[in-house]
Amino acid sequence: MPRLTNQRVVIATHNKGKLAEFAALLKPHGVSAVSAGELGLAEPAETETTFIGNARIKAKAAVEASGLIAIADDSGLCVNALDGAPGVYTADWAGPSRDWNQAMRLVEEKLEAKGATAPAQRRATFMCTLCVMWPNGAERIYEGRAPGTLVWPPRGQLGHGYDPMFVPEGQSLTFAEMEPEAKNAISHRARALEALVRDLF
Ligand code: IMP
Repeated sequence: MPRLTNQRVVIATHNKGKLAEFAALLKPHGVSAVSAGELGLAEPAETETTFIGNARIKAKAAVEASGLIAIADDSGLCVNALDGAPGVYTADWAGPSRDWNQAMRLVEEKLEAKGATAPAQRRATFMCTLCVMWPNGAERIYEGRAPGTLVWPPRGQLGHGYDPMFVPEGQSLTFAEMEPEAKNAISHRARALEALVRDLF
């Protein structure tokens, strides 16, 4: 498999929070990264029902539109007490206006409806699946997980998405209360990228 060192790659995301994390995590590895948003690429519909399927859709669309090697991720929050929801539909729970407070409230309402008030009943895992795709169609898949507990009310101003209600395992701060370096040391995206780096650099 060709190495990614000193290659120019497109990060197949329009999500600024994810992009900042990718840029910080890839910087030490000499990759020149541009995002799908910066290139003005269209966002494909995520029509698959698995993280791998949707990561592959995003990678393929970015490769075909840019001619570059693409790194795409599909990620989400899987809540144990909700049978893994919202899972691949994590972004959808924020509605068309991507209102993350609304999305977090929806998770909280569903947990309360289940009587899930004790921390042990509020276990959740952030999942990240990465798809690297080359212009010749070759691909590699990597996965990372960050297990933790959901808290209410949300805490912290940093990060993005559901970060304010997620306390990673072994920590007391939410992802949104942590400095980016601290989150990037343990996040699902960081763990998936570590697997990629071990394999492709
Ligand atoms: P997608 O991968 O673009 O389908 O979106 C997944 C959604 O999961 C994001 O829009 C976020 O709401 C949520 N998500 C993924 N990773 C994180 C994270 O690191 N922190 C908070 N929310 C996240």
